[in-house]
Amino acid sequence: MHVIHIASELAPIAKVGGLADVVFGLARETQKKGHTVEILIPKYDCLDYTALKNLKPVFRELWSFDGPYRYHNTIWSAEVQGLNVLLLEPHHPGYYFSRGSIYGSPDDVDRFIYFSRAALEYLFKSGKTPDILHIHDWPTALVAPLYKEMYIPLGFRTKGIVQTIHNLQHQGKCSPQNVTRAGLRGEDLLTPAKMQDPFLPSNLNLLKGGIEYSDFITTVSPTYEKEIKTVEGGCGLHMLLTKHSNKLKGILNGIDFEYWNPAVDQLLPAKYDLKTAQQGKSANKTELRKKFGLKESKGPLVCAISRLVPQKGPELIVYGLKKTIEKEGQFILLGSPAGPEMTLQFHALQKELSKNKNTAIHLEYDEALAHLTYAASDMILIPSLSEPCGLSQMIGLRYGSVPLVRFTGGLADSVFDVETSKKPDNERNGFVFDFPDTSGVDWALDRAFKSYKGSKWSTLVEQGMKCDYSWSRSADAYLKIYSNVSATKPS
Ligand code: ADP
Repeated sequence: MHVIHIASELAPIAKVGGLADVVFGLARETQKKGHTVEILIPKYDCLDYTALKNLKPVFRELWSFDGPYRYHNTIWSAEVQGLNVLLLEPHHPGYYFSRGSIYGSPDDVDRFIYFSRAALEYLFKSGKTPDILHIHDWPTALVAPLYKEMYIPLGFRTKGIVQTIHNLQHQGKCSPQNVTRAGLRGEDLLTPAKMQDPFLPSNLNLLKGGIEYSDFITTVSPTYEKEIKTVEGGCGLHMLLTKHSNKLKGILNGIDFEYWNPAVDQLLPAKYDLKTAQQGKSANKTELRKKFGLKESKGPLVCAISRLVPQKGPELIVYGLKKTIEKEGQFILLGSPAGPEMTLQFHALQKELSKNKNTAIHLEYDEALAHLTYAASDMILIPSLSEPCGLSQMIGLRYGSVPLVRFTGGLADSVFDVETSKKPDNERNGFVFDFPDTSGVDWALDRAFKSYKGSKWSTLVEQGMKCDYSWSRSADAYLKIYSNVSATKPS
């Protein structure tokens, strides 16, 4: 099987959140299972170029459209930890991928519409014949309508398109003119059966286009699949997703078990495995305390490692932090605030607590510090209002940091409460609360602190470390879908 991912993120070179990890982990595992995988992403100026091997131009004469204008593009190839990566560099006066960040520009919709069209143009012109095109979230959703409305008539063929919804909150709403710039007739797509947004009838919805035109839709956990078909969780697309139930499946993400492995993790001062977890975690804790000038403590070290956006329950993270200190624990917050208001708020908190020797707040994206924090911490707090899958609870489990989570999306599918879960005792691995409010956080923290002092804590840590949330199982589910989709579409 030949699979080409067309995506806006790829770990570790272009990562904002879980989407990047999923593309990387799924691609690597599918390749390991003997399939040919390529990943096409924009050649951002902010890529981590140190992680690219053998970067070279492979296709210099790619011309693509933006409205009536034709622009030149170069396709580069590179290797990222054994994966074949293709990078599209537009020579466009809008400097679409030279903005210093992946998202956050006012013309994001135009940037990714341009990318989607140029990506398909490249596949067509270079004579590639993938079995599957796998597209991710709104930024590359337009690939599906473009393929069916434009590239099939031109003669390009793939056996199927799979659209993955990582997060339904962002849908890429835009005017028909935006899509017309990619060469489709935007006005013609403004119908309920095509790409018309259900709430803003004069707008197109790129993600809706991906959903309507793809052969199969996946989302990132079975519980999130159920949630997005409800009014509360569907972000306006619940009816559409319900209509397409027969081509929709929730597959729990995995994490890359080679990359996230405390036994070989080069970013840890002290590596450890199941047998040496206690000593290993304690040595990492000492390093982390030293790094932030925290005092010695007998209380547990709790952490949160998260983008700081409303969906992640930032107020509850702050509440959990303050409660932890009150209860004589310690708290490390590694957060990436989004937007000026959140940034201001968290910098104020950082200043307020700067002299407190039981907490540290680090407001940057810092991969190395994330590894150390997972390894050093005893617990990880994830009070999300909504969480399609969530990876940090799985990484936490792998590193022996017991998750305290709200029962939603993939958190509900991967963390099982020590007291209330229906799972057998030896499969329970954390503390779960139902409602995203302060009493939920209190309930989880109280029980976790009590358990930390008791004799069964090390068993709980061990049970978590034994959980298999590797990509292997999830990749098999994707391969089954690829194979079903391509079997129904003879080339
Ligand atoms: P989302 O995709 O919604 O951000 P996930 O839990 O699926 O949430 O994935 C988050 C990923 O990003 C995890 O790998 C986590 O370790 C990482 N991460 C989040 N914030 C930071 C940060 N400030 N520094 C380093 N890594 C971070």
